[in-house]
Amino acid sequence: MALGEFDLIRRFFTVQAVKHRSTILGIGDDCALLRCESDQELVITVDTLVEGVHFLHDVDPESLGHKALAVNLSDLAAMGAEPKWVTLALTLPHCDADWLQSFAKGFFTLAKRYEVELIGGDTTRGPLTITVQALGLTPRNHALRRSGACPGDLVYLTGELGAAGLGLKIRLGQTGIEDQGAFAHLERPEPRVDIGLKLRGLASSCIDVSDGLAADLGHILEACDVGATLYWERLPLSDGVHRYVAETDDWSMPLSAGDDYELCFTVPPTSREELERNLTAGGFPFALIGQIESQAGLRLSKEGRSIELSQNGYQHFSSD
Ligand code: ADP
Ligand code: MG
Repeated sequence: MALGEFDLIRRFFTVQAVKHRSTILGIGDDCALLRCESDQELVITVDTLVEGVHFLHDVDPESLGHKALAVNLSDLAAMGAEPKWVTLALTLPHCDADWLQSFAKGFFTLAKRYEVELIGGDTTRGPLTITVQALGLTPRNHALRRSGACPGDLVYLTGELGAAGLGLKIRLGQTGIEDQGAFAHLERPEPRVDIGLKLRGLASSCIDVSDGLAADLGHILEACDVGATLYWERLPLSDGVHRYVAETDDWSMPLSAGDDYELCFTVPPTSREELERNLTAGGFPFALIGQIESQAGLRLSKEGRSIELSQNGYQHFSSD
């Protein structure tokens, strides 16, 4: 590398706007040191993005910096956690200053928006791979889990469904539909951190939709030993996705495509009014899309028919 490892870290990853008082030690020592309050729980997640698997080689680096952080903040959102700190492990094929500058811009712009501080990482040479670990906080016993849904609970989804799936089809030239919004959704997903915080104490279960709604809601159903019915007419599809489904009859795309990074959550009917009032007051987009049932399996009610849905999303190693 033209720039040494330590110069690279100093130049691109130590300049940041966010510094928390509870950070005793950030970048520069062998480990970071954090101060934690006794009435809070530390919520930790990690996600890796690999070139050729999670993104195409010519992806815009600024979008990649955004997305590497966004997918982790989305996991924290799904637990109702407030994001605080991140670490970044970067494996780079070579040191390209322009590329790193853009990557860091995408990363830190999003980090600033959610007041997230980068406190450490690792930098190595090899095939382009980005691993971000995110740490957040919840009040003790208030984290949202996958496991609390009961028959009769209502199933909700934030935002729109299938936009990233359509964005990927546009990117790969598999559809003639033009939809800038879908493309933006694929490249720069917005983590639903603010909604996750509002769900504390109200949602009985929650997950972020990264592998497709059917698969991710399937994880909730499995964890809770229940089933569910979704209502086609209630699914929040953008105009572009509506057009795509009308043109191709591929109605399963919005249910199975990944990368939406919306939250799917369940709410007992007794909390419905409070939940809808809170989300509406905050101007947050959400839709009631189905109901939890005691009968196992995931069903789609569409034009008077009940269709059994596969709960298999994208799985690494599934063909080994
Ligand atoms: P060690 O050899 O002890 O693992 P490194 O030499 O890898 O430490 O890193 C030196 C310091 O720089 C550490 O504090 C580490 O957390 C930080 N660091 C390394 N790479 C990155 C990165 N990509 N982003 C942020 N901090 C980093
Ligand atoms: Mg190291």
